[in-house]
Amino acid sequence: MIKRIGVLTSGGDAPGMNAAIRSVVRYGLHHKLEVIGILRGYAGLIDEEMKPLDHRSVAGIINRGGTILGSARCDEFVTEEGQRHAVEVLKRNKVDALVVIGGDGTYRGAIELWERWHIPCVGVPGTIDNDLNGTDITIGADTAINTALEAIDKIQDSATSMDRIFVVEVMGRECGYIAIQVALAAGAEEVLVPELGYDLEEMLRDIEEGRRRGKFSWIIVVAEGAAKGEEIAKKITELTGSETKADILGHIQRGGNPTAWDRILATRLGAAAVDLILKNEFGKVVVSKDGMINAVDLRLAVGKKRIEADSYYQLIRDLI
Ligand code: ATP
Repeated sequence: MIKRIGVLTSGGDAPGMNAAIRSVVRYGLHHKLEVIGILRGYAGLIDEEMKPLDHRSVAGIINRGGTILGSARCDEFVTEEGQRHAVEVLKRNKVDALVVIGGDGTYRGAIELWERWHIPCVGVPGTIDNDLNGTDITIGADTAINTALEAIDKIQDSATSMDRIFVVEVMGRECGYIAIQVALAAGAEEVLVPELGYDLEEMLRDIEEGRRRGKFSWIIVVAEGAAKGEEIAKKITELTGSETKADILGHIQRGGNPTAWDRILATRLGAAAVDLILKNEFGKVVVSKDGMINAVDLRLAVGKKRIEADSYYQLIRDLI
């Protein structure tokens, strides 16, 4: 019988995590569960940093970026000793089940807790990267795309006015989702993503061909996992003779108020995670698939995600 649940946020923070926490807390209380907030992810769990969360403690956070619980990366938790310690803390505090909000690393931690230590866990996809398998979209990705888009729209103004080539580096180490979406939305001419690789020679031929047609400004969106924006800009400057600028958008993509989409997604997924616990379904993560809220196994969720990179890329190229 589950009476008390814990909730934590772990890994990189993502806009909408707060909306998910709020939903877990209020939906849990509504179903007569006690909810304990664990601070700083698995690091706070090991250090026994936790506090009961009531209805008021999550007031006024649905619109705020970041996470009120704090987040961290914790190497100690990857070790057997660290996990044993975390399990003792959960048992001592009578936490019967855990909701973890984060990305694939966070899920790997939950797999350990569930499969090795038999701690009932459910996951909520919270990462701007949208790199989790089994869900169409993760909490935070939509806000990050909109933030990057706003920045690129501004860069575009300068590119057009000055007839310049700009390389804009966005987040995405393993997954080019943000890059490809934002490139399409911004009307960028080129996008480099880890899924596809790139051909610099071909890119230069396109730029030359564009110039013959009277097109001088160019936006190249680069996912950080595909190439270094600075290096691409340097090579283009050397090879074309026209000064090419690089902008690295960096951590602004993580922050800011979550979009309506992210708040709605987070609220639905947070409640769905509590529903899983109430049904005694553990070792799973809640997902949004084809507009429906569902659940898949944690192990499936950490598998490689496939994005439709080819078709998006072709469309971007066809529209130059
Ligand atoms: P994001 O990708 O958005 O940054 P994430 O959840 O993937 O989010 P990570 O830093 O990869 O972020 O993982 C968060 C934490 O999960 C790690 O610091 C570590 O404590 C734990 N973790 C990661 N991998 C494992 C593993 N194999 N076993 C146990 N714990 C793990």
